[in-house]
Formats: sequence, C-alpha cells, structure tokens
Amino acid sequence: KTVKSPTQHQPSKSISVIPDAGAGDRVRPCKGQAVYVYDAEKSWREAIVLDEDHAHNMVTVKLEDTEQIASCCAGHVLLCSKAPLEDVNNLTHITPVHEASVLSCLHKRFAQGRYYTNAGSTVVAVNPFTDVSHLYSREQIHAYHSRQQDLPPHIYPVAEAAYTSLVRELGKVNQSIIISGESGAGKTVSAKHLLRYLTVVSNPAAEPRVDSSDHRGVKIEQRILDSNPILEAFGNAATPRNNNSSRFGKFIELQFLRSGHIQGGSIETYLLEKTRVMHQGQGENNFHVFYQMTGLKDCSEEEEFPDWVKGIQAEVSDVSFTCVPHNQDCSANGDITETLDAMIDIGLSQDMQEQVFQVLMAVLHLGNLRFVQVNDDSSDLEASFNSSFESQGLDDSVVEVSVCERALERSCQLLGIEPSCLKHTLLHRSLQAGTRNRQSVFVKPIGIQEARSRRDCLAMLLYSRLFEWLVGFINMQIKADSFDNTIGLLDIYGFEAFATNSLEQLCINYANERLQQYYVAQFLENLQKEYTEECLQWVPVACMDNRPCVNILDGRASIFSLLNEEVYLNRKSDAEALKDRLLQLCGHSHNALRPVRRSAVTQPSFVVQHYAGEVQYCVEGLITKNKDDIPSDLVSLLTASDNGFVNQLFASYAEPESPAGRKKKTVLTKFKSSLDELLSSMGESDIHYIRCLKPNNTSTSGLFQPGYVLQQLKACGAIETVNICRRGYPARMPYSEFQQRYNVLLRLRSAGTGCHGDGLGQDEGEQKENICDPLDLLLRQQLEFPASPKRTPTPRKR
Ligand code: ATP
Ligand code: MG
Repeated sequence: KTVKSPTQHQPSKSISVIPDAGAGDRVRPCKGQAVYVYDAEKSWREAIVLDEDHAHNMVTVKLEDTEQIASCCAGHVLLCSKAPLEDVNNLTHITPVHEASVLSCLHKRFAQGRYYTNAGSTVVAVNPFTDVSHLYSREQIHAYHSRQQDLPPHIYPVAEAAYTSLVRELGKVNQSIIISGESGAGKTVSAKHLLRYLTVVSNPAAEPRVDSSDHRGVKIEQRILDSNPILEAFGNAATPRNNNSSRFGKFIELQFLRSGHIQGGSIETYLLEKTRVMHQGQGENNFHVFYQMTGLKDCSEEEEFPDWVKGIQAEVSDVSFTCVPHNQDCSANGDITETLDAMIDIGLSQDMQEQVFQVLMAVLHLGNLRFVQVNDDSSDLEASFNSSFESQGLDDSVVEVSVCERALERSCQLLGIEPSCLKHTLLHRSLQAGTRNRQSVFVKPIGIQEARSRRDCLAMLLYSRLFEWLVGFINMQIKADSFDNTIGLLDIYGFEAFATNSLEQLCINYANERLQQYYVAQFLENLQKEYTEECLQWVPVACMDNRPCVNILDGRASIFSLLNEEVYLNRKSDAEALKDRLLQLCGHSHNALRPVRRSAVTQPSFVVQHYAGEVQYCVEGLITKNKDDIPSDLVSLLTASDNGFVNQLFASYAEPESPAGRKKKTVLTKFKSSLDELLSSMGESDIHYIRCLKPNNTSTSGLFQPGYVLQQLKACGAIETVNICRRGYPARMPYSEFQQRYNVLLRLRSAGTGCHGDGLGQDEGEQKENICDPLDLLLRQQLEFPASPKRTPTPRKR
C-alpha cells in the first residue's frame, strides 16, 4: 500500500488541535496507531496513523468515519484508548484520559443506549430524548436499592448513596443532590426520577400516614410526587431550547426519620419568570396551565368533569390573546386531567380548584384589555379593538360588547372588584405628598404606556401570587411534624442564551454561574487542597475558575451593583448611557464582560462570557424589571376584593415598606440573597452531583453532536473532575472516625504487634501511625464496610 506524503494529501477540512485538550498522556503517535484528530466542525474524530513525517513533525491519518486522508501536526494528535470505550462505566477508567477519549466514550455509550456514565462519584447523564421508561421501572429501583452486582451506571446510585449516608449516618446529617446542566439537558426529568426513587425506597410499606385533612388517604409520598405536575403546569413553559423548560428554580427537601422512613417534604422555589404571563418572545409560550385550559375541548365531553371545568373551555376560547402559542410544540404542555388529579391528591378541594382557575381566567381577561391615548398624559380603555366584536345575548336583544369591555367586566367579576375601580386604578396613579403628619394624596391620569404596564403588572402580580400560594399550600400538605434529616434535590433553570436576553436570563445564568463556582470550590479545589494538606503526592490539576465572571456579575463594582444603583437613585438613564456606564465600570478589557461586536449591535447591549458560553444582554428594560415596582394602588385594589380567595392571596402580601434611608430590595438583591442562603445551607450537607448533558441542540432523539457536547463537558469542568477523581482517593474519613469504625482491626494489630490497646485516647499523630497498617490490611482483605456507630443528629422541628 503506498502512502502519499502529507503534503500531497491536503485535507478537505483543516484539522487542528485545541491546545488545552487535557492530554497529559500525549505520546508521539506511530504508524498504524489509532488516534483522535480535531476538526473544527465535527470536534474530535477517530483516525489511524498512516505515515509519520519526522522532519516536519507531521502525521498522515485516515479518518475512521469518512475514510478521508488528512495531515496534521504530530504534537496535536491524541492517542485512542485501547479498551472498547462503550464498556467503560466510569470515565476515570479510561486510558489515556483527555477530552477526546471522554467525549468518544460518551458518544459510543450513547449510540448503544447507555445514557449514564460515572465520572468518579459524579454521574454524567446524557439526555436520551426518547422514551427509556424501562430504565426507571420499579424493578430497576429495587435492583439498585438492593445493590445487585454489575448494574450499569444510573442516577439511582446517586440517590442510593445519599439515602445510605442518611440511614447509616456515614457523613453529614443532611444530604443534597445538585442536578446541573443547560436548558433542556434533562435536570427536571432526572429530579423526578430521583424523587420517585427516594419515595419508593423510603416507603416502609407500612400504612400510609393518613391525617384528618382532605387527602382521601393519599400517602405523603404520593402527595410529594403530586407536587410535580402542579408546579410544572404553573411554572414550566415551552422555549426554543426546551418545550418543558422550568421557569423557576426548585429545591425539594425530603424529610426523613433516622430509620430512613420518609415523613414529609418542603419545596423552596426561586424567582418565577412572571413576565412570561404577558410577554413571550419568539418561539416561546406562556405557562403550560393556560394551554391546558384551552385543551379542554375533548375532555369536556367526559362526564366526570364538573361543570366548572367545562365552563373554562367555553370561556377560554374567547380570551385566547394571552396564550396564543408562539411555539407550536405543545407536546410537553401536559393535560388538565393530570393537574386536577394532582390537585385533588394534594388536598385542594374542588371549590379551591375552581377559585384557582378563576384567577387564571381573570389573568387571561386582563390580557385582553386595550388602551387608547387620550392626550400625552392620559389614556382610556379602548371601546373596541380591531373591530373584533362578540355577541352577547341580553334578554332577547343582541348587544354588541367589545372584547375589551367584556374583559373588564369579566375580570372584575372573577376577582371580586368593581369595574369602575379597576378602570380608575389602571388609568391613574396616586402620589403622596406632604409631611408625615400632613399627607395628601394626589391622583393623576397616566399615559398609554404606563397604563399598559399597570395592566401587565396586575396580571403578573396575580399570577405570581397564585404560584406562591400554591407552593405554600403544597408545603402545608407535605410538611412533616418532625424529622431527623433531609435529602435535598436542587433543580434550577439551566443556562440559556436566546437572541434577546434580559434580566430573567441574567438571573438564570447567574444562578448557574454560582452553582458552577460552588462545584469548583467545594468539589474540585477542596479535594486537591485536602490532598496537599494531608501531604499526599499530588500534582495539582488546574480547574476552570469562573470567579472573574461571578465577580463581574455580583461583586462590588459589578453589573448588579450598577443596576441596583440605578434603582436606588431612581435614575432615568437611557439604555445607551447605561450600557456605556456598565462597560466603563467593569472595564473594557475585562474578559468576562465586553461590548457587543459592531456588526451584531441592534440595540444597546453588552456581552457576558459565562462559563457555559457567551450571552448578549439587552439593556432596555433591565432597570424596570430590576425595580419590579408594584403600585400600591394595585395591591390595595386586590386586598379590598369581595372574593375571599383573592383576599387570601393578598392577605399576607405586604411589600415591606422600606424605612426611610434604607435601600429598597431589588429583584437582583433578593435573588442573590436567596442563592446565598441556599448555598450556605447546602454547605451543611454532603453534596452529590449529577451532570446532565444535552446531546444536540435540536432536542432530537438519537443524535449526538460531539462539538456541542464537548462544549458542555469543558464548561462544567468534566475533564478536570475525571482527572482529579482518577488520580485521587475514592473515600475519605477523619482519623478518629476511621479508628472508631475499624477498631477491630486496630485490636487485631495490637494483638499481633504488641501495639497499645484500641487506639482511643491517642493523639492524632499516633492514630495516623496506628491506622496505616490496618488500612493496608483492610485493602488487602477487601473487607466489607461494617455499619458505622450511631451519631446523634439534632432532631429538627418545623
Ligand atoms: P430547563 O433548564 O429548561 O428546565 P431541564 O434540564 O430541566 O431544562 P428537562 O425538562 O428535564 O430539561 O428535559 C427536557 C426534555 O428532554 C424533556 O421534556 C424530555 O423530552 C427529554 N428528557 C430529559 N430527560 C429524559 C430522560 N431521562 N428520558 C427521556 N427523555 C428525557
Ligand atoms: Mg427543568
């Protein structure tokens, strides 16, 4: 076989290597060897070395998939693993380990339907985008729970490890599982499977905990699971990245007794993207629940639906404005039957359900309110818009009523308020003047823009309060009276970058940035620090540090500080000036923040280089959203409602008056402090990680785009994780704990060597010395871990 020289074989596509490929094991490739070469389009590709050109340090390779011949620099070629990668269950077992072999392993496993792979103790989950329910059957749960031999990697062992730690009291009192990944990577689905796993294994098979409330004897486990369809109906929506995207962050805490029996749970939610109620971008939909209401047509014929449910269908078709689907993929919307069933199970009476849907209907009607400009400073409700009239029978005569008028009438009827009051509140603003003792209130008409934003504000306020109320209700129904320890599941909205990004994306991406920072600090850095402190031989592995980005977002002179300052000083900077200030403040040369390339500028924007990719944020609207001013007139209107349920929604709603001189809390400050709180409480627990990866950017089943996956692997520090775990130690334990647990071995040793007693009461140095031999013994004999001595966690009461 003649091999042409590299120069004669010009590759059709240029082949080069990314320098930071993590190729510690890079060796000069020789003829016949299987290697990886990098192609900018297809990422790492497998190839066979055909020829070496030592003089020019080049190699000629034949690409495996296309049989193309290509030439590339010898130093930029990575060696393939000799073992069949599809059979490698743990990425730490790959030799050599670098990004190409890790990627190839995941790719090959994906092609074989093996979606889960371990990376040390972390599980990497590649979204199958196809029905793989056989992986989550009860039999599978029992198999993983009973730790049957030779089970493939799965997310279940992560839940099992958390549960075992909790029951056997191996680590800290509480456990947390962090599920991360970009939007559509499969976090919420994974969280649901983990929740089900934990509720199944912790079910003592004894009688369910039935209490006197209206649950029809539904077990606590079922009630916890029922929270999912409700929260998804009200908090998820279709976006271009995921047709069932979570538009809120969620931390579910399962509460257990020391015996491992589940007692209850609690749900903390973070920042619902309420702007979606009134505005949806291109390819975006409103929250699922609105489409569930419109999808009642088929169900309305079913007898078991009460009349009020059927009534929704009839009415909702008239008020479709707010929920016209912009994203035609409505497959993930869910259907109302599931939501209503879950509501019943959770203990929401039919009466209450009806009231919940009445508020939703009122929100839809509010979306139909239209305004006309009267003059520069005042506006009015439009008598009719788009000449779209509907007929309404009144006695025998037919009167034409505009959609807008009907929207006003009906929303007020549903909310228990006077139409004239709503109209007045939407079209006027009240101003307070004077001193504390002599205050006067002035009422002033407002222009069309402000009237529109008041309408939107009212709809968003109602929706977000309803969501909070539902979360509060669910929490009341699932909370335990007392419990010993908890397992928390964190499922937040994944990193996202759309064509237009605003405060919502800034918050979402900031949360992901903080989690990534937490992961690097907690997992990667601490582990390495520990090895160094323990004087173990260790060559440090550099971890991608996203601190500069976090600092530019929330530090002292940062994007957040500037956006907050605008609110505190009530400045009315225009978008262009604000953009300049942002870029100036943070410095043009900052890597994490930069101006938009000239060609890409449409409106004032800035670019943040997030760990998972760069995102262009539009300045317009950032301040208004950050301020989130809710006019007190709107709140008063609803607190004065005749409708008991609306009253209840707003009973506890009192926007804390900011004391004179104190800064008003902005959306960003509130969001940051809730994240701070979450992370610090998670710091008290043992943390387990699941890394979800999206195999392609079109949510297609069976398609693995190596370049797309590689970007996620690099962004989340997966290669570093593999490297650290591979070289590191799989288990660690304080000397004293080890000594207590393996006391028997120390005794064995002392009997054989004459060493002193049980080792207790020795100083740490002596302990260390005495431990070394038993550890050897333990490893050699591969003893099973005996049950640990009991700790006494402080019981918590809520
Ligand atoms: P976001 O951050 O936008 O909320 P996410 O990471 O929570 O995204 P999911 O909603 O969990 O993403 O998953 C997106 C879609 O991927 C699901 O609707 C489902 O179609 C598919 N999917 C995810 N995980 C699995 C799985 N284990 N098996 C089958 N399909 C899955
Ligand atoms: Mg989700």
